[in-house]
Amino acid sequence: MMRSTLIALGMTLLARMLYDPMITNDVSEEYDFIVVGGGASGAVVARELSDKTGMTVLLLEAGDSDWGNPLVPSPTMFDMLQESPANWNYDIAKQKYSLLEMGKNAKYPGGKILGGSTSINAMNYLRGSRHDYDSWEDHGAKGWSWKDVEPIFKKNENAVDENISEKAGRGGLLNISISYQHPFSVKLKTAAKEIGVEEVDYFDEIEGISPLVCTKHKGIRQSSSDAFLRTGYKEREEYLHIVTNALVSKVHFVTGAKTKQKATGVSYIKDGKINTVEARREIILSAGTIRTPQLLMLSGIGPKNHLEEMKIEVVEDLPGVGANLQDRLEILVFHAIDDHQYATQSTMESIMEYIINGTGYNSAVRGSGVVLHHKTKYFGTNVSLSTKKRPFPSIQEIFTPKDAPLPFKTRENYRFNTALLLGVQHPKSKGEIRLKSKNPFDQPIIDPNYLSEEDDIKMYIEGFRKLEEFEMSQTMNEIGFRLITPEICNGSLYTKPPRPDEFYRCYEKSYGVGYHACCTAKIGKENDEMAVVDERLRVRYVESLRVADASVMPHETSSNTQAPCYMIGRKASEMIKQDWNI
Ligand SMILES: Cc1cc2nc3c(=O)[nH]c(=O)nc-3n(C[C@H](O)[C@H](O)[C@H](O)COP(=O)(O)OP(=O)(O)OC[C@H]3O[C@@H](n4cnc5c(N)ncnc54)[C@H](O)[C@@H]3O)c2cc1C
Repeated sequence: MMRSTLIALGMTLLARMLYDPMITNDVSEEYDFIVVGGGASGAVVARELSDKTGMTVLLLEAGDSDWGNPLVPSPTMFDMLQESPANWNYDIAKQKYSLLEMGKNAKYPGGKILGGSTSINAMNYLRGSRHDYDSWEDHGAKGWSWKDVEPIFKKNENAVDENISEKAGRGGLLNISISYQHPFSVKLKTAAKEIGVEEVDYFDEIEGISPLVCTKHKGIRQSSSDAFLRTGYKEREEYLHIVTNALVSKVHFVTGAKTKQKATGVSYIKDGKINTVEARREIILSAGTIRTPQLLMLSGIGPKNHLEEMKIEVVEDLPGVGANLQDRLEILVFHAIDDHQYATQSTMESIMEYIINGTGYNSAVRGSGVVLHHKTKYFGTNVSLSTKKRPFPSIQEIFTPKDAPLPFKTRENYRFNTALLLGVQHPKSKGEIRLKSKNPFDQPIIDPNYLSEEDDIKMYIEGFRKLEEFEMSQTMNEIGFRLITPEICNGSLYTKPPRPDEFYRCYEKSYGVGYHACCTAKIGKENDEMAVVDERLRVRYVESLRVADASVMPHETSSNTQAPCYMIGRKASEMIKQDWNI
């Protein structure tokens, strides 16, 4: 029985690898809309514009189809996915203040596959704080306040667990469910209570500890491709053409009716051939924080000096393109655990539970189940343009019980370790994306400039101090939960909390990873010369070109970025439909 089920599964995967019925190579010369990039935002835009509108839409995706990729559906495959061709696996420019001990391991991930980063991410679905969006409006994103965007989040969501907040959406296309609650997560919630951290309904108030809600259903990943492209795709087949392995290399312009430049079409490279396709109405760039500014610059829109240096003809001098890069550096913090049941790893039993019921340890990325958000005394000050100091939390900690290889040497003796990600949500440090060359296949230069601002360093130290509170709690003490101290930072001198600031400074500068880059084509007011798009996501001073992806955020949100990107895609499609009276 078991054998025949496995054979059937294998055959299905093989068939899917060979043929994806949703993908076409039959491309028309012209479409109403062209969407570049099928990630969190792009898939939503493409679906919404082609769904019962009578409009034709072409979606061009640089990566392969997700259909039949055996690593995509199961959360346990997260680490293997990162090593696969579905990850752009960018280099990060050498950092002056951070990642100092990472060497060649300092890479920047991004989904190169239909579904974009939602096909390879950790699936945590977190909208952020209501204050984030009110602050976006402070930054010139008129119409993006919490009251405006909350209904849009809800339209996308389908909370499949009864236990998910009533404030979450039900009836949307994106299935979300509560992550598996490992005994370690349960213990953390008890410890949180002991140290005065409240358990909160994340959809209402994010400051506190809450179970993680993830983009998965019955233990299977829900990517933007699953939710927005595959659901009912037959009904839209005539209107929505999806082409994969198609790298868009340039947007074309002619002189526009109002003397502006007007975008008319794109070139894309597929199977080594350059193809051109025209858009009757608009082109929407949803290639993500790193590739959208690259594509704008390759097309002549960006900082004049840089374009001239690259010998690219300037279509529009927009200094904000590629600037304002923000990303929370996620510090990998390791704790030891003595008690086996709180560090349970994947076992034959848990694998069987996952295969049969879609539940248990293997239904969660690295077994992670809870998230903690808290403020620091620096809150509000880090979003430097904020006119009002919005009280969003600045620190996020996501705990995972998975034993992972340490990136450093330690003298600590321990039986099991647990890794957690400690991130400052609204970093003051800003970096940039610049072209390395005119070749669209060359990745751009990515310089997040992490920890270049002293306030960020101080905020991370406050994050470590919160972790010390957990470490010192009786609840966590009982299971032998204690920081594993890296030798590089004189760790053996500081095995017990409280540790000096200098130790934590050394730790945060040594190791980390980034996953949530944003803001490189930000929305802003007309008088903000660094704004790239207006509040309706139209690229400034040109016609028929919009951006809809993580790059338009004025600043990072208090949580991870996929939920806001789904929202951005939905809001973009609503605005486009309004503007064209569709
Ligand atoms: C490993 C990893 C883990 C993460 N974990 C989480 C998490 O748990 N929770 C969370 O909220 N967020 C997470 N994120 C971040 C989140 O997934 C992204 O912020 C979000 O998907 C960004 O959406 P987007 O639409 O801007 O871009 P993407 O989803 O990245 O989509 C961009 C798409 O454009 C395509 N593209 C790029 N250039 C071109 C071109 N020239 N021509 C054609 N196509 C192109 C890309 O291949 C890609 O498919 C994670 C990200 C990564 C990489």
